[in-house]
Amino acid sequence: MEKKVVHTRVSDALYKKISSRAKARRVTISNLIRNLVEDSLELSGDVLDLVDLKLKSNLKKSDAILGYQTISLAKNIVCDLCGKQIKKGTAANLGFLEDTSRKLVVCDECRKENE
Ligand SMILES: [Zn+2]
Repeated sequence: MEKKVVHTRVSDALYKKISSRAKARRVTISNLIRNLVEDSLELSGDVLDLVDLKLKSNLKKSDAILGYQTISLAKNIVCDLCGKQIKKGTAANLGFLEDTSRKLVVCDECRKENE
């Protein structure tokens, strides 16, 4: 596979930061940057997926969610659909989605609404 080369200008301070991080991880500077870029693109991809999902879920929530599994929460968490806080130790619903391995945490009210 043909590889492309990306040139970019950075400040002295940023270069020093990158260089010391690369040394600490014992990778080359270009390796470090490649990993960082890959990570950050993946991350924003996930975030975009989620936004997309939320839009979709507002349009047809029930279509996006394949099914639920009831879980007992190990920490306080916010319902992914309505934003309501669900307390640690109480039950919440793990929503399995059709087109991604990502799961939504859904409160009982939202689950009822979607069923
Ligand atoms: Zn909710």
